[in-house]
Amino acid sequence: MASIVGDANVVANRDQLAVYEYDWTRRWHGRPLLAVRPSSAEEVARVFCACREASVGIVMHGGNTGLVGGATPFDGEVVLDTVRLAGIGDVDRSSRQFTVGAGVTLERAQEHARAAGLDVAVDLAARSRATIGGMVATDAGGALAMRYGTMRSSVAGVEAVLSDGRVLTRLSGLLKDNAGYDLPALLIGSEGTLAAITRVRLMLVKRPAHRVVALIGLESFADAVDLVADLRDRLGVTLEAVEFFDRIGMELACARLRKRDPLPAQHVVYVLLQIADEEDPVGLLAGAVDGPASEAMAVAEDRERQRALWSYRETLNEAVTARGVVLKYDVSVPQASIAQFVAAVDVQIRAFDERATLVIYGHLGDGNLHVNLLDVELDERQVDDALSKLVADHGGSISAEHGIGRAKRAILHPTRSSAEIEAMRAIKRALDPSETLGRERVLPPIEASGR
Ligand SMILES: Cc1cc2nc3c(=O)[nH]c(=O)nc-3n(C[C@H](O)[C@H](O)[C@H](O)COP(=O)(O)OP(=O)(O)OC[C@H]3O[C@@H](n4cnc5c(N)ncnc54)[C@H](O)[C@@H]3O)c2cc1C
Repeated sequence: MASIVGDANVVANRDQLAVYEYDWTRRWHGRPLLAVRPSSAEEVARVFCACREASVGIVMHGGNTGLVGGATPFDGEVVLDTVRLAGIGDVDRSSRQFTVGAGVTLERAQEHARAAGLDVAVDLAARSRATIGGMVATDAGGALAMRYGTMRSSVAGVEAVLSDGRVLTRLSGLLKDNAGYDLPALLIGSEGTLAAITRVRLMLVKRPAHRVVALIGLESFADAVDLVADLRDRLGVTLEAVEFFDRIGMELACARLRKRDPLPAQHVVYVLLQIADEEDPVGLLAGAVDGPASEAMAVAEDRERQRALWSYRETLNEAVTARGVVLKYDVSVPQASIAQFVAAVDVQIRAFDERATLVIYGHLGDGNLHVNLLDVELDERQVDDALSKLVADHGGSISAEHGIGRAKRAILHPTRSSAEIEAMRAIKRALDPSETLGRERVLPPIEASGR
């Protein structure tokens, strides 16, 4: 490996390898053989060929903020760290695009885009560490997805390396290009199992200049869903984000941030919304929120207070993780089923163990709920099966935005049919026949899928 990437970019020392051994939640663990840090697609290709020849598995590793263990090595795997895939091209103002290395963090890409008066359309709380390559590989969603779409909507092309070392390059950024199969689209959301993404052609957006943020306390999930429907009708595209968390989420956030609840009374559910417009949107907010909702509302007009309100929502991943290893689910259900689904989850979890603490938060605007279980030792397999059945019964998906990784592969069924899983296996066999990349991730074990 040293002959490919240089001595300094091969990590073989146990102490230095420790940073690769655990995932962000510390639920997943593995001892890699070594880690390599290539700086170009050509170097990635040579690393892949060497690993393939030695029959050693490779796991791609971006910012390691993934929440399903996908970037955590199994014992003996080689970690391919993308940190040196760090090039960042000029913003092309005519197409509103730029080309960025897979290892560039979201925050750095945002700074670069903002210097040109534009922005990356996807935003998430892990921005200082999550990489553009990891975000494409997981098709990350985040808070702005209801307005601008998930990462998929921002990708105009990729450069990627297959496990046999062939490099696929589609970075022209053409918005219309129907020549054959759309290979970049296939790699978005493939979680390091089909190819290494080495560069990305990103489409940027012009976000409105002014915004207002409000936190509203409500007494039921049904009220929250109704509020979202009203806000959509009244605000149209000026509604940039609608997030939510439950009362336990508010308590955890206050404890973690060492701050007080911004609302004077406690509520069952809290909705955080952001309105953005070319003119000051405070008047839009006043016209859109009325009745009891307007009486339990904190409004932030300046940047500092807006960040402060957002911090209650953005700290929640850290806050639940700090409570110890948690069972986490990242599901989406149709808006019309959200209230019923939350009630059904509550009943199901209480049936398993009365003492369980259930914390639900997420991206209400696109029906994406993060369901977290704390304080109990539950049989994970049993909870997996029960929750995936509830998700299916409510017409939802077992993975809204975090992906499948190692954590959810056994429950890809029933969200995906046997025919779909068989087609996925065929794609995997075609692009990575030696099964070098992302082994035992995403696709279910043969026995769990019944094939
Ligand atoms: C506080 C916090 C908030 C979060 N909020 C959100 C959110 O709002 N929305 C959301 O969608 N996610 C969220 N996440 C999850 C996470 O940030 C995203 O999944 C992100 O896209 C992962 O990027 P990463 O660079 O850290 O990838 P990693 O964790 O390093 O890897 C994730 C997966 O992608 C693969 N991979 C990484 N880089 C490449 C590459 N170059 N080529 C091919 N495969 C690759 C890995 O093998 C792994 O399977 C959050 C996480 C945290 C900790």
